Amino acid sequence: MTSFADELNQRLAALRGQNLFRELRRVDSAPGPRIQIGGRTFLNFSSNDYLGLANHLALKTAAIQAVERFGAGAGASRLICGSLAPFHELEESLAAFKKTEAALTFATGYVAALGTITALLGKDDIIILDKLVHACIVDAARLSGAKLRVFDHNDLNDLEDKLKWADKLAKVENGKRKAEILVVTESIFSMDGDAAPLREIVALKEKHGAWLMVDEAHATGILGENGRGRADELAVGSQIEIQMGTLGKALGASGGYICGSRALIDFLVNRARSFIFSTAPVPAAAAAAMAGIQLAQSSEGERLRNLLAARIHQCRAGVAPVSNLKAAGDRRDACPMTSAIIPLILGDESEAMTAAVKLREQGIFVPAIRYPTVARAAARLRVTLTSAHSANDVSTLAKMLEQIVNRKS
Ligand SMILES: *Cc1c(COP(=O)(O)O)cnc(C)c1O
Repeated sequence: MTSFADELNQRLAALRGQNLFRELRRVDSAPGPRIQIGGRTFLNFSSNDYLGLANHLALKTAAIQAVERFGAGAGASRLICGSLAPFHELEESLAAFKKTEAALTFATGYVAALGTITALLGKDDIIILDKLVHACIVDAARLSGAKLRVFDHNDLNDLEDKLKWADKLAKVENGKRKAEILVVTESIFSMDGDAAPLREIVALKEKHGAWLMVDEAHATGILGENGRGRADELAVGSQIEIQMGTLGKALGASGGYICGSRALIDFLVNRARSFIFSTAPVPAAAAAAMAGIQLAQSSEGERLRNLLAARIHQCRAGVAPVSNLKAAGDRRDACPMTSAIIPLILGDESEAMTAAVKLREQGIFVPAIRYPTVARAAARLRVTLTSAHSANDVSTLAKMLEQIVNRKS
């Protein structure tokens, strides 16, 4: 036993030595723009709860009512003990929200990607990923055993090169393709806040007969009419074979979803191992997510999105001198105005850590994002804004960033 602990302690020491050690911070309050850590209140710029729904009365009430009616736990997988009504109501409203034939929900976005990609592709197939897609997509692609290629972030020429290479491998034989090709990207990227050129990517995948999967984790609830997402905003939803996302960010609850054709959803129910071999989430999570989707489409949802847009505008203007320091500067212009993710790329891991510590000393909580979440030497402060922040909160942040990040050199 001691040698096991010794071995792990050595590995942990190596992480510490590279400024890559991570630890949990216990929060003693509900999610929101102010959180309590160790008896102290912090202004919180770390959450993906973009519309402030995680602690919204409508979602909490829906969850409580679902507990009272359907109990605390689901009891088994949905294929084993019957599939509770809240999941069906949620999936119907998700499909309507995303304008697809059908939807399927999973325990998390992570396992939605894992189950879907491994169900659809195997070792003879080809997966082409944007370099910056989320870890769950990378892990899913690896687990599928498919041949894997990565194209430079948002680079259409590089994507086309990879598609041409894949075309040759997948050549038609006796009227049947030898392999399927799947392209995967995000609509708004999680650590950079920039947008993929979805229209152009759709055109390319159509030209090469590939399938397309788009992860809308950071666009659903925020972008497009009623917060339907970026694919709907650009009117390309019907050309995307697989739309995925999470119910745990702007929608305020928990879980992952896949939206698409009836055939896709029926296939996943039969083949997605992370769906089949896992106990269904608690019914309260489905009820809360359903309330989140309804809220996103209501006039209150519109009001919250407008508030969020105002904070984003204010923050981008206020921290412009800081974010111009490094690469984040040019990327900001590529963002749709409404991306709530503002990365301040500092590069060095220790520099990002020090900046985060100094901000915490001033009562501001902004995470330092490091490898392996982003590339080595691309460490950053990742500011996320929500509609629950006040104008005052954002000016406090801008002032502190100016002092801490701009003045250090
Ligand atoms: C958060 C996130 C996920 C995973 O969703 P969870 O529901 O948190 O598991 C997937 N993709 C992207 C881009 C994300 O940011």
